[in-house]
Amino acid sequence: MAGREILIAEDEIKIAEILQDYLVKAGYQVSCLERGDQVVPYVKKEQPCLLLLDLMLPGLDGMEVCREVRKFSGVPIIMITARVEEIDRLLGLELGADDYICKPFSPREVVARVKAVLRRVYAPPGDKTLVVGEVSLFPETHQALAGGRELKLTPCEYNLLKTLMSHPNRIFSRNELINIVQGYDFEGYERTIDSHIKNLRKKLAEHLPGPGVISTIYGVGYKFNSQPR
Ligand code: CA
Repeated sequence: MAGREILIAEDEIKIAEILQDYLVKAGYQVSCLERGDQVVPYVKKEQPCLLLLDLMLPGLDGMEVCREVRKFSGVPIIMITARVEEIDRLLGLELGADDYICKPFSPREVVARVKAVLRRVYAPPGDKTLVVGEVSLFPETHQALAGGRELKLTPCEYNLLKTLMSHPNRIFSRNELINIVQGYDFEGYERTIDSHIKNLRKKLAEHLPGPGVISTIYGVGYKFNSQPR
């Protein structure tokens, strides 16, 4: 993941401080913003590992912030609302948030939800067979099939494909992919990922004609499409 920093966007300073307190005690780095219009530039620059987003914010409301962030990032988002009825409406809008919490909340519960979302989103792919569209991965045998034919992949290409396929349609930044493929502390170059992806695409295209299954999100990273574009 991008780091251990959690971003809180909340204009009620008291609430932000309490959340910050509990999250810091749980071992996270925390930054706070009070205005909605500060969030998008911040997320682009700092790539937090999770966003706690209040619905009612000055500048730009939480709903719009969520929509804007989802245009370029798969960062997990937990929305905070003041009214429980609001949650149904938000779910209906399919904003792409990962969880919802209603005020008043217990800070302990928020920490538990944060941990659960982080576990879910950043869980390493297990040893289950992965099948997305025409591509299948068999971790037990390290085999990969595209369009029913075997792909000959390097270990690095295999791990990249496994990571992307484990969360279809989620955008992975180059940094995340470097950490996952090369190990967390590896000082990799983003270009390395680009060249692995290029080779991976070439191999996939040999068996799968038509639109590519891996998309480039300009300036951000890559994602594996559950449905070809
Ligand atoms: Ca508010």
